[in-house]
Amino acid sequence: MVVDLDAIAANTALLVERAAPAAVMAVVKADAYGHGLVPAARAALAGGATWLGVAQLGEALALRAAGVDARVLCWLWVPGEDVAAAVAAGVDLSASSAQAVEVLADAARAAGRPVRLHLEAETGMGRGGAAPQDWPEAVRAALAAREQGLAELVGTWSHLARADEPGHPSLLLQREAFEQALAVAAELGAAFALRHLANSAALLTDPGTRYDLVRPGIAVYGLSPGEGVGSSEQLGLRPAMALRTRLALVKDVDAGQGVSYGHTYTTERPTRLGLVPLGYADGVPRAASGTGPVAVAGGMTAVAGRVCMDQFVVDLGGLPGAARAAAGDVVELFGSGALGGPTAEDWARASGTIGYEVVARVSARLPRRYT
Ligand code: PLP
Repeated sequence: MVVDLDAIAANTALLVERAAPAAVMAVVKADAYGHGLVPAARAALAGGATWLGVAQLGEALALRAAGVDARVLCWLWVPGEDVAAAVAAGVDLSASSAQAVEVLADAARAAGRPVRLHLEAETGMGRGGAAPQDWPEAVRAALAAREQGLAELVGTWSHLARADEPGHPSLLLQREAFEQALAVAAELGAAFALRHLANSAALLTDPGTRYDLVRPGIAVYGLSPGEGVGSSEQLGLRPAMALRTRLALVKDVDAGQGVSYGHTYTTERPTRLGLVPLGYADGVPRAASGTGPVAVAGGMTAVAGRVCMDQFVVDLGGLPGAARAAAGDVVELFGSGALGGPTAEDWARASGTIGYEVVARVSARLPRRYT
């Protein structure tokens, strides 16, 4: 697997320009969507992001351990985890209830410094965030923590459910609910410094969602947030990840050869098969059996038969370079899409998922090279 760090920096720079004057928090959770947490974070910072966003405490602490000292927001933790370690490391933390604020205040006491607090409002995502009836209590808890010197009121935020469907009425409803939450906080005397709502799709399509800070993830890595927003090419983004390997074996077989588990593919004529040493344990979706596009032997073909745990087969018959194909030849599953090669978005379509999942599931067991 090859990661183009310049592409990450260039995509971030494009998002920084689009977001201005709002600041950019590059979302680097899930090992930077499979691209490598620390190298991707550094590339995004080089591209002009000033914040990093992660889901888990371990991810935030890994950034600090690597010497990354940019602002980092972590939005998903559970009581009982070592939240105090994150407070001590200067990580910004989110809370979605008065009880969660109290846990963070206790952690701040233990860490001997105030927690940098972001309060999440439920505005329609139906996931995290304090519901409207619980919001005033959460805000009061935040104010009480600040009074005791245990919290800095940094952010008020929420997350959009349907930003990849530009113009969908739920976007406006979520914005209204967000404005309402901001108004309630202001009435209660809570002056949070930053408001943030937009993911990649909202940042790229809906200027009204940008507020003070935006939180793009997928666009940082050069992929589109969804077909309704446009392809990565239309958005001016460069896919940063390429998944390539080499043929492990080439062999000639007769017509009627069943291929891989279940024989869901059978050769129609004498042909050459190539063995690709990547499987679902490496993140190749099993749902792409028979459909996943592969560039090999000077042309394009699809996975023949089922994807196995560590390998799958391609039928080289009819490809321009089939006669010369040999073990060691390069195989590309996806890359930048330049010159018509397959992309992660093509794999998403071929396996009924989203580009996010295709890149995020690429396994840590694969060697990574950064360019
Ligand atoms: N903000 C939050 C809270 C998220 O969970 C995510 C990712 O799902 C993002 C921002 C980034 O979203 P996207 O990758 O669609 O830009």
